[in-house]
Amino acid sequence: MSQSAEVTAVNDQPQQVKTNLLGFSASKLGDFFEEIGEKRFRATQIIKWIHQMGECDLDQMTNLSKDLRERLKDIVEITLPEVVSCQDSTDGTRKWLIKVDGGSCIEMVYIPERERGTLCVSSQIGCALDCSFCATGKQGFNRDLTAAEIIGQLWIAADSFGQFEHKAPRRVTNVVMMGMGEPLMNFDNVVDAMNIMLEDNAYGLSKRRVTLSTAGVVPALDKLADVSDVSLAISLHAPNDELRNQLVPINRKYNLKQFIDSAASYIDKMPDNRRKATVEYTLMDQVNDRVEHAKELAELLTDLPCKINLIPFNPFPGSEYKRVSNNQLNRFRDILANEGYTVTVRTTRGDDIAAACGQLAGEVNDRTKRQERYKRKLDEAQPVKIIDG
Ligand code: SAH
Repeated sequence: MSQSAEVTAVNDQPQQVKTNLLGFSASKLGDFFEEIGEKRFRATQIIKWIHQMGECDLDQMTNLSKDLRERLKDIVEITLPEVVSCQDSTDGTRKWLIKVDGGSCIEMVYIPERERGTLCVSSQIGCALDCSFCATGKQGFNRDLTAAEIIGQLWIAADSFGQFEHKAPRRVTNVVMMGMGEPLMNFDNVVDAMNIMLEDNAYGLSKRRVTLSTAGVVPALDKLADVSDVSLAISLHAPNDELRNQLVPINRKYNLKQFIDSAASYIDKMPDNRRKATVEYTLMDQVNDRVEHAKELAELLTDLPCKINLIPFNPFPGSEYKRVSNNQLNRFRDILANEGYTVTVRTTRGDDIAAACGQLAGEVNDRTKRQERYKRKLDEAQPVKIIDG
């Protein structure tokens, strides 16, 4: 993170690039104020203004002196991504199309349920992992979202429900990092944004209500265990390496055993009452939905404290798979339940506005360098070890 404002030349005129404070966690904002010779507690004041009161105009931050506000205005800004459109489904699901710097758009979805409201947040523009059944993967990878662009999504949803004015009949009670992108491939920004979600002076969400979902970037998951203990969802989708190599290509680098071991150590560090991962398994007709697959999955997960979430495949334009049949879905669920697992089936929400799991596509510009970027992103996920293929 660059703490000091950079200077660039536009039309030969030097221009100050202002630091966007939106994505600064409390500790980073404290460091920022110290660096500019101000007291650390200013960080708490600003965090409260932005993330509790929804105020992004420095002039309105009346507990800061006028001098300080003027000084800050020269070097910082509080800028949100732009909402392009917002659609409501007949079932109450809301989907936003959000434009970020560079012109690409990401999608974000809010799913209301009786007791909670879950916001599904994107972490990247596109995705480099290229899972064969995911619409985002088909878009290719453009870039990581900044911490400001990630937390900005929660700000936008909170604002749209009137949460900042405390008049919200609906609110965001849970956040899942299950939108576009692989959160562990954008480690630092995702951790910063999650810290703001958890921060008491910001959104104050509990760790159990913030979930990171990953397809298995094992070294990054190991690293996450050192800095965070938010809830963990692991996207398995196959009970053996042979099948998973085809569906989730990162499995060729970090196989199932490595992934499950890493997830087990992650949740092992959690307090007793939270020590459980969620296993996500997207069911595709005649691909991974057979009785043998269910039995193999039950066997595979023996040593992992977990609950299993079955997700019927959601089709998207150009997708090559079919949704699992209800018979197969029930049979699959019953086998796992009989083996003693807690199994839930994710109901498809927001079908009429293409807001369901795996359907988020946004508008990813500049996909031409996809292969190059893909390779670079994967190379960054050290240590590199090809397990198979
Ligand atoms: N990259 C992360 C988070 C994004 S995907 C991950 O893989 O976990 C969030 C969840 O939606 C994952 O479990 C993913 O496998 C699932 N998903 C993706 N495409 C889907 C589709 N077409 N139908 C149903 N679920 C899908």
